[in-house]
Amino acid sequence: MSQNGLNPRTDLAVKYLKEADALLIGAGAGLSAAAGFDFTDRTVFAKNYPGMLQYGFKCKLDMMGNFSVPQELLWGYYLQHVRETRFIKGENKTYQDLLALAQSRKNYFVITTNADGLFERNNFDQERIFTPQGDYKLAQCLTPCSQDTWAVEPIIEQYLPLVNKATQRLSPNKDPKCPNCGGPTFLNVRGGAWFVEKPWLEGSLRFHKWLTQNGRAKIAVLEVGSGFNTPMWVRWPSEKIVRVNPNARLLRINLHHPEVPEDIAHHSLSFAEPANEILSLLAAGCE
Ligand SMILES: [Zn+2]
Repeated sequence: MSQNGLNPRTDLAVKYLKEADALLIGAGAGLSAAAGFDFTDRTVFAKNYPGMLQYGFKCKLDMMGNFSVPQELLWGYYLQHVRETRFIKGENKTYQDLLALAQSRKNYFVITTNADGLFERNNFDQERIFTPQGDYKLAQCLTPCSQDTWAVEPIIEQYLPLVNKATQRLSPNKDPKCPNCGGPTFLNVRGGAWFVEKPWLEGSLRFHKWLTQNGRAKIAVLEVGSGFNTPMWVRWPSEKIVRVNPNARLLRINLHHPEVPEDIAHHSLSFAEPANEILSLLAAGCE
């Protein structure tokens, strides 16, 4: 019987977290999937986006990073997707567990590739979040003719009622235009060289400053749901921190890719169990 009534591996993870002077949370799509925002679910997609099936799209993941569709379909889809992913109100249990865990450790920082704003919406400290891939809450010019970004919520209110559910499209040439040049626009998320970095530079500076101060300390890296779509932001840097710092520990929670490189395995723990279940146990253990 383990000390906390948890299994021995979560007990050890709790020990690593409690021993650490700093906590880095690295999050990818797998965290939000575990929190209920699963982009691979075909049944829910067919029910909510019937107009998309005729184009061969079977789940939300099929539309991620897909810019080959006409602008009126791109916006027609994303207006609905962003409303339900980014702007539904209410706290989320999995993120609340993660928040409790972070607050119990006090000195934490978050890097997330998720554009859904769930850390911000669950009351994590704004000054302790870096979002290198952007956020669905902002839009930008696709040219881009300037470094300007603007709020997406009013665009959803104005344009979503105009989407034809049978085709999931706006009328031709009725997509939201750039207020500066009149050209096409999209969300301020990293989808190509057009991505406007400006809103995220400050977070980048804060993150690198925090890492400079804490990366060599007794740090725990809690990496959740970060696979190989964009491993350069979370997964590979997490491994690097543990590789160069013998006092660092990696806690990797990943349903599909829990493996850890052999050279850092002795400083790592990995979990292939659902992230919501593990985070709930870790939060309880760190209380
Ligand atoms: Zn423009």
